[in-house]
Amino acid sequence: MNPQHKILFAGDPHGNFKPLIAAVHEYKPEAVVLLGDYDLDMPLEICLQEIVGLTQIWWIAGNHDFETPSKHKYLFDSALADKGLHLKVTEIAGLRIAGLGGIFLGRVWYPPQQPKWRNKQHYLHNQPANIRQMALSLKYKAAIWHDEFEVLKSLKADILVTHEAPGSHRHGFDVIGELGAAMGVKNIFHGHLHENYVSMIKNNIKVVGVADRAVSDLTGKTLM
Ligand SMILES: [Zn+2]
Repeated sequence: MNPQHKILFAGDPHGNFKPLIAAVHEYKPEAVVLLGDYDLDMPLEICLQEIVGLTQIWWIAGNHDFETPSKHKYLFDSALADKGLHLKVTEIAGLRIAGLGGIFLGRVWYPPQQPKWRNKQHYLHNQPANIRQMALSLKYKAAIWHDEFEVLKSLKADILVTHEAPGSHRHGFDVIGELGAAMGVKNIFHGHLHENYVSMIKNNIKVVGVADRAVSDLTGKTLM
């Protein structure tokens, strides 16, 4: 197998998994990493049943995956729920892959501004009593929280996968590149912005943007 194809990266499917399924049949990767925004109307493993068992399936969540309780449930309660990479480093096909799902949200943390809350507890304690007892709403679950981001930053990895873009994109955030640099990564793959591109940022990090429904190999080449 071509080593560049041992892990493939899938940009926001938005309900269409056909290009990813076709890429798995054609390139037979050891693993695929999905970069968020699935818009699921059935559990993720059903959408991907053609390739379950043919390759490892890993994922991070995008903002759309928190839009409705059902979209959220079909991802986070799916049979692939334990394949989420968010806020962890996972060894996949011999590479250490770190994941950061979700988005920056003005009411939580919107870099380069200071975070509005130290952590989720700080936010919940400052809500009216009737809200305080409740779990975090989906909107807030979609957010990138500063304290969790800092914990991830203390880990080491080869590749960082994010939904949000680093500063390589005009709608990106420099802190993502800083996160990658602190973790010692060589590559960042991201979705969300529906654009295929490859760009170098500070610390010699190669950024690969993967467009909606596109599939990229480890070098950033668009296969589908
Ligand atoms: Zn998105």
